Amino acid sequence: MTPTDLYPADRLERAREAAADAGLGALLISPGADLRYLTGYHALPLERLTCLVLPVEGEPFLLVPELERPAALASPAGNLGIEITGWAETEDPYALVAARLPAGTARVGVDNHMWAEKVVAFRTVLPDTDQALAGEVLGGLRIRKTGAEAEALRRAGAAIDRVHARMGEWLRAGRTEREVGRDIAEAIVTEGHVRVDFVIVGSGPHSASPHHELSDRVILPGDPVVVDIGGTTEDGYCSDSTRDYVVGEPSAEYRRLYEVLLTAQRAQTDAVRPGITAERLDAIGRDVIADAGFGPHFIHRTGHGIGLETHEEPYIVAGSALPLEPGMAFSVEPGIYLPDRFGARIEDIVICTDDGGERLNRISRELVVLP
Ligand code: ZN
Ligand code: ZN
Repeated sequence: MTPTDLYPADRLERAREAAADAGLGALLISPGADLRYLTGYHALPLERLTCLVLPVEGEPFLLVPELERPAALASPAGNLGIEITGWAETEDPYALVAARLPAGTARVGVDNHMWAEKVVAFRTVLPDTDQALAGEVLGGLRIRKTGAEAEALRRAGAAIDRVHARMGEWLRAGRTEREVGRDIAEAIVTEGHVRVDFVIVGSGPHSASPHHELSDRVILPGDPVVVDIGGTTEDGYCSDSTRDYVVGEPSAEYRRLYEVLLTAQRAQTDAVRPGITAERLDAIGRDVIADAGFGPHFIHRTGHGIGLETHEEPYIVAGSALPLEPGMAFSVEPGIYLPDRFGARIEDIVICTDDGGERLNRISRELVVLP
């Protein structure tokens, strides 16, 4: 896998066309997933301005603080054939961008995660230029993964699977969620990520709280434990997977809940195919859970897109008539939560292909009973 595969040179051209179609005169992209997507440059988010300027007419350029120029040149952006210009400490980088935008640029797209201080600084130097969200342009490109991006997501999925496979090394009664979480975080890195994005270990009643993270609660015999973990790999793509464990013997009631959830999640991953809408896919799992009497306890959407960010388009949610297309990658993560008692969630990343859904998390979805 060469960087060129992940960052094809035609991407800037496609972004430029999409910006023109949206009536924008230019895109202004600061460090983050959009910049990495367009250029391969994984820039540090700093108070000093780094900005890809992509005018609809004229040549794009990457403006970076002079001291960051070697890093920018060494990144895949250095192979794109675009100008990479450094600005000196005494210069005003916002004024430099404004001076180089085509005169009369009425509207620019700024990336969705640009810091407010930078958005406001651009507003000050471009008082007659409206600002819009670049995400409305770039989201349409990023939502369909290329073959190389799908490969990168497969590697991320395999990496987080390896962490789940080792859970028995750390998860046992008598340890706190935080102790277990520390071990998991270390393994996320040793098993093929460069960064830990989140570690959720929800034991006992905490399993009923979808976004519980870690606490000093001591895990007790018979506790169900939701483990939802994710990280970012070297090439910037994210993993996100949830499995459920029981330390000791689970109750019959919990087993029943888990069987319903597993049936729902399987039905959803099996239903992924081009043309099915996001809301239909959501309903397929929701109906199984509702028919079993747990309807009010599935309290969140089915899933979110994933790529260079853990949460991105498409969202698998009621009310979204978006038809799925080959290349779309997203989580399928229904959950059932009985407040103050217990809950469970099963989460796989699935990529839509011409032939249906491909699960990128291959480890068993059955309830794991640990000694
Ligand atoms: Zn998750
Ligand atoms: Zn998720």
